Amino acid sequence: MKKMKDNCFNEFDPNALSVEQALRKILLNIRVKQDIEHVSLKDSVKRILGKNIKSTINVPNYKNSAMDGYAINVKDFNEKNNVYKCIGESFAGNPFNGRLKSNEAIKVMTGGLIPNTCNAVVMKELVKENNGVIEISSRIFKNQNIRFPGEDIKKNKTILFKGKKINEIDIGILASLGISKVPVNKKPIIGFISTGDELISVEKKIKKSQVYDSNRYLLHGLLSKFPVVIKDYGVVKDKLSLIQKKFIKATKECDMLITTGGVSVGDADYVRIVLDKLGEIDFWKIAVKPGRPLAYGSIGRCLFFGLPGNPVSVVVTFNLFVNAAINKLINKRQTNELTLEAELLSDIKKRKGRKEFKRGILICNKNKFFVKKSGSQGSNILTSVKDANCYIELDENMSELHKGDKVKVIPLTLTSEYYE
Ligand code: AMP
Ligand code: MG
Repeated sequence: MKKMKDNCFNEFDPNALSVEQALRKILLNIRVKQDIEHVSLKDSVKRILGKNIKSTINVPNYKNSAMDGYAINVKDFNEKNNVYKCIGESFAGNPFNGRLKSNEAIKVMTGGLIPNTCNAVVMKELVKENNGVIEISSRIFKNQNIRFPGEDIKKNKTILFKGKKINEIDIGILASLGISKVPVNKKPIIGFISTGDELISVEKKIKKSQVYDSNRYLLHGLLSKFPVVIKDYGVVKDKLSLIQKKFIKATKECDMLITTGGVSVGDADYVRIVLDKLGEIDFWKIAVKPGRPLAYGSIGRCLFFGLPGNPVSVVVTFNLFVNAAINKLINKRQTNELTLEAELLSDIKKRKGRKEFKRGILICNKNKFFVKKSGSQGSNILTSVKDANCYIELDENMSELHKGDKVKVIPLTLTSEYYE
């Protein structure tokens, strides 16, 4: 990686990176660790599967009944002969161990083992029973109401692939295969620091000229959906020596460090100066709004993201860049982003030259999608993110947009664990 290159001063710098270029550079620099640990089934939820999982058994493991009823052999059945003698019972977990002869049946419960000599189950409701003799009034077909071995999962089949984020369905699948310990990728350690003389802790009473430190809580929340160890390094004042001390400590202990604030070109912005001194840093102007400037690089073996201070910029740059970087770090298989096309419900102001991610409210009416801004779009207006359920992604070359125009929308609520 190149040493610090400051290209963040001009509003319309032709050298500004596009979001895609920045993302490519970020991902290129991440060395993926392959360390695996084994955790209990319950603890494996939301972790990243470290190895492919192959079934060592059939699921179900034996031929069994899908109904409460009677197991028979259809070859004995015809219009003149619809009567069977019931000679035993097969309950789930308590099989019938005898042998059946012609025109004999056994009573079976759902999940009960079906003997090899039987090839159909007749529902209880379609049978008349009298003194151990049953009379079948309906038509019957071979294999009806029978569940076969391997019908759900065949033995030796690769059922889950490494890199998958394990969800609640997956642990059900793993349990059905009798797997009690799951190989998962080890959690990397990700730390964060807020910078700024104006920041105070949420426990304190606020004075004029002070700001509650919301970024550390945002980052804690954003990081908690990933299988990572989160380390909160608190707030550091806008003082070069203090920032340097804190960065040295944190980058020794973490795989990734995220800072917010102090990364611009103001008089109190020391983050990039310290980074330049300690590590390998690119300081980028990215053609995106909100979100610039962004510092990215490494100190020793620790990856470094210096995010802007404004809370909305923190969320957007996290979603755009840090998300993808963490996914690579944790070895998660990348999935395609889900996007929709929606019609604008009102005009949107925009200038050419930068990609914009407006915070929006997406609604569906008569099977058509519509979208509007979720309030004021300043990068300090965190409530615009709270009220949003999507990003409206507007490309660099777009200018003023009008009611009725079609725009690309990234829903925030549809990226469920299933989709991932
Ligand atoms: P900076 O990038 O340090 O110039 O900060 C830009 C804006 O974001 C300023 O208005 C800061 O007060 C605000 N800001 C910086 N850090 C935080 C934080 N941790 N929580 C809330 N606001 C912050
Ligand atoms: Mg600051």
